[in-house]
Amino acid sequence: METVAEPITTQQTITANKRKIKKVAVLGSGVMGSRIACHFANIGVEVFLLDIVPKELTEKEEAQGLTLEDKSVRNRIVNDALQKALKDNPSPIYDKKLASRIQTGNFTDDMSKIGDADWVLEAIVENEDIKKKVFGDVEERRKEGAIVSTNTSSIPIHKLLEGRSEDFQKHFLGTHFFNPPRYLRLLEIIPTEKTDPEVVNFLSDYGTTFLGKASVTCKDTTAFIANRIGVFGIMYIFHLMEEMEMTVEEIDALTGPVIGRPKSATFRTCDLVGIDTLVNVANIVYENSPDDEKRDLFKIPDYVNKLVENGWLGDKSGQGFYKKSRDEEGNRVILALDINTMDYKAKQKVKFGSVENAKNADQLEEQIRIVHNGEDRGAEFMRKLTYGSLQYVSNRVPEIADELYKVDDALNAGFGWKLGPFATWDALGVKETVKKMEEYGMQPAQWVYDMLDKGFDSFFKIEDGIKKYYDLETKGYKEVPGQEGFIILENYRKNKPVWQNEGATLHDIGDGVLNLEFHTKMNAIGSEVLEGINKSIEIAENGYNGLVISNEGDNFSVGANVGMMFMLAVEQEFDELEFAVRRFQDSMMRIRYSAVPVVVAPHSMTLGGGCETTMHSDMATPAAETYIGLVEVGTGLIPAGGGTRH
Ligand code: NAD
Repeated sequence: METVAEPITTQQTITANKRKIKKVAVLGSGVMGSRIACHFANIGVEVFLLDIVPKELTEKEEAQGLTLEDKSVRNRIVNDALQKALKDNPSPIYDKKLASRIQTGNFTDDMSKIGDADWVLEAIVENEDIKKKVFGDVEERRKEGAIVSTNTSSIPIHKLLEGRSEDFQKHFLGTHFFNPPRYLRLLEIIPTEKTDPEVVNFLSDYGTTFLGKASVTCKDTTAFIANRIGVFGIMYIFHLMEEMEMTVEEIDALTGPVIGRPKSATFRTCDLVGIDTLVNVANIVYENSPDDEKRDLFKIPDYVNKLVENGWLGDKSGQGFYKKSRDEEGNRVILALDINTMDYKAKQKVKFGSVENAKNADQLEEQIRIVHNGEDRGAEFMRKLTYGSLQYVSNRVPEIADELYKVDDALNAGFGWKLGPFATWDALGVKETVKKMEEYGMQPAQWVYDMLDKGFDSFFKIEDGIKKYYDLETKGYKEVPGQEGFIILENYRKNKPVWQNEGATLHDIGDGVLNLEFHTKMNAIGSEVLEGINKSIEIAENGYNGLVISNEGDNFSVGANVGMMFMLAVEQEFDELEFAVRRFQDSMMRIRYSAVPVVVAPHSMTLGGGCETTMHSDMATPAAETYIGLVEVGTGLIPAGGGTRH
C-alpha cells in the first residue's frame, strides 16, 4: 500500500522537537499573572498559580478564628486574585468552567510543585532583587529543560540570570505579555545571549499557534519594541500638543481611525491603559537610555505629572484626560481635560477639513496621504508627528530590532495600529517623505538613504503572494518569516482577482481553492455580498476544488443590512422585502447544497447573516475570539436567511 506523507504543520514542528507544554507554573497572581493563568487555561493547559503567604489576618479571618497557619489564609492572596480576575469584564477566560484547570498555591508551601511544570512563568512585583530571589528558588525545584521566563516590562532580562546554572540560563528568556493578556495580541519574546535558539523558536511558534499571539522576538533593550516606540509616540504627542496649543479632542480626532489607529486614539488609550503605567514606562526609558537622541521627550510634562499627583489616572480612577459626568438635566455627558487650566469642559466636536476629506477615501493608505497633504492645523500637526516619529523609528533600527518588520508587527499587535510606522511611511511614499522630513529638520537614519540609493523605494513589498521587507544587513529584500503556515489575504490583494464586485472579492489562494472576501461597511451582507456568494460557488463548481469564505476585516460580518429591511418595511415595499429575504435564504441554501465544499472561517462579530452563512457551511473553523449569534431575534425579526434550521 502506498503511503502519502502528510505536510508538516507548525504543531508537528513543535512536537517534533519533543517539547510539549502540558503544565505551566505562573508565579504571581496580580493583574498579569492571574490573567495569564486564565489564558493558559483557555488553550487547554494545566496551570499552577502561586503567590505569597499573607503576613496578617484580615478582620474576617480573625472573627472566624483562623490563624496564619490555615490553608485558606495561606492561599488567600492567590485565591482572591483569581476570583477577582474571573469577575473581570471583558472576561479573561473563555468559560468560567475552564478555571478548574487552574490550581492555586503559595510560594512557601507549594513551590516544590513547580517541578512538574514544562514552563515556569514569573509575573511577580517589578523588583529586580525579589525576582532574582524567586529565580533562585525556581532553580532548586524546576525540572531540567523546563522553560523559565519573566514578564518584566523594564528589568534587563540578562540581569536576572546572575547566579543561575547553565541549564537555567539556556532555558531562560523574557516573555512579555500585554494587558489584558487574552485580548492584546502581542507577545514579545526576549532572549539573552545565553538562551538556546531552540527555546526561542519553540516559544515563538507556540505563541502564535497555541496562544493566538503575534510573537515578536526582541533585543534585550529598554522597554523592548512596542512600549519603546508606542510610548515615544504618546510622549511626543504630549509635547507637541503644548507646543501647537491643541486640545485633547483635536488630537484624538487626528490620531484615531483616520490614520489606522484604534477609535480610542491617543487620550482614550491613555485613560484605558492608566496614565501612571505610561508614566512608569516613560521614566524607565528616560533613566535607562542616556544615548537616546530624543530622550528629553520622555520627560513627563507638568500637566501629566499633575494628573498623576491628583490621582486622575484614567478609567481605573474614574477620570483622566476624559471624565464621565451628568449635565444639569441629569443626562450623561463626557468632559475633556483642558490642560492649561486642569479643568474639565464639555467634550467638543472637532472638525478638521483634512480629516473630513480623508474620510471619503476607501483605502486607509489614501486616507493617510490626504490627512498629511492637508492645509489646516490638523494636517500640520500630523506632519510634525509623523516625520518626527519616522525619524525616531529609523534611528532605533537596528538598535531595538535588526529587522524592521518587527517594529511594525509589535505596534500592530501591541497598540492596535493597522499600519505600523514603516508601512505608513510606504503609504506616504518613502522618497517624498524623506524630502519633507528634511524640510522639517527631521532627517531619517543613514540606512534609509542607503536603501533609496540602491533604487529601493519601499520598506515592504509583496511578490508572488509573499510579503518581503528591506533587510539592512544584506541591503536587499527578505521574506517576512512566519507566513508559511498562514494564508494572508492582504498578500493576494495585489493579484488580479478571479471575480469582484463592490462588496466582495474572489481570490485564487492556490491548491484549487478560492477565497471569497467581503469588504462592505462592517462586512454587512447586502445584495453585493449575496451576488458574491452565488457567483463564487458557481465559479468554484466549474474548475476548483472548494471555496473558503473568510476575511481579514475587523469583524467577519455584522449580518444582513437590517436598515435596508426596515426602510422597505416602512415604505411598505413588501414584494421587494420578500424578494430580499428569499434571495438571502436561497444563497444560504446554495452554500449548503453546493457541489464543492464551502468552508467558513468566522471571527470577531459574526452576527445574523454572518452566523447563518457559518451554519450552512460544510465546515466552520472559527477563531477563538468569535462572537456569534442570531441577534435579529432581539429586534423582533425571525432569522429568515436560514437561522431557524435545527
Ligand atoms: P501586580 O502588582 O498586580 O502583581 C504583583 C504580584 O507579585 C502580586 O500578586 C504580589 O502578591 C506578588 N508579590 C509581591 N511581593 C512579592 C514577593 N516578595 N515575592 C513574590 N511575589 C510577590 O503586578 P502586575 O501588574 O501583575 O505585574 C507583574 C509583572 O508583569 C511585572 O514584572 C510587570 O512589569 C509586568 N507587566 C505588567 C503589565 C501591566 O500592564 N500590569 C504589563 C506587562 C508586564
